[in-house]
Amino acid sequence: MKKAIFLDRDGTINVEKDYLHKIEDFEFETGALEALKIFQELGYIVVVVTNQSGIARGYYTETDLKKLNDYMSIKVKEYGGNIVECYYCPHHSEKGLEQYKIKCNCRKPEAGMLIDAIARYDIDVEKSYMVGDKVSDIKAGEKVKVTPILVKTGYGKKTLEKENITCKVYDNLLEFAKSII
Ligand SMILES: [Zn+2]
Repeated sequence: MKKAIFLDRDGTINVEKDYLHKIEDFEFETGALEALKIFQELGYIVVVVTNQSGIARGYYTETDLKKLNDYMSIKVKEYGGNIVECYYCPHHSEKGLEQYKIKCNCRKPEAGMLIDAIARYDIDVEKSYMVGDKVSDIKAGEKVKVTPILVKTGYGKKTLEKENITCKVYDNLLEFAKSII
């Protein structure tokens, strides 16, 4: 079995920008590339799990998203890290295009994306983490019994103010990475 780090994308790996979909607007969070390199060196597989309701809302397409994720994955690899797969949920239960308007089991806080990856990559949940900036990330992690982690980047500070957070909290992804060395 493999140990894994599940990562939210927007606000965790890259700077949160509303409905980001253009490569020129993509900006890694401080220390994120170094963090991803550390995960690789420590023998974790890294799986991205991201809600992308901008697709349901018609703001961008799945093709746009895949191009952006490919760009991110290439940059990560150049720096010495590796993302094995980027899972995304294109759905929204109420808003937008008909083909995406479902109450799915993949939009976090649901755990569909994580459940799929755990089976596909034979992941040991006891040795694995889910890192994100929103309470939906933490809840999705708890559902599959990986250790949830909140980062203060993105919406992380707001999440701390608004929600009763009981998991460990780090300033950013790099600080979390250093904590598991
Ligand atoms: Zn979904």
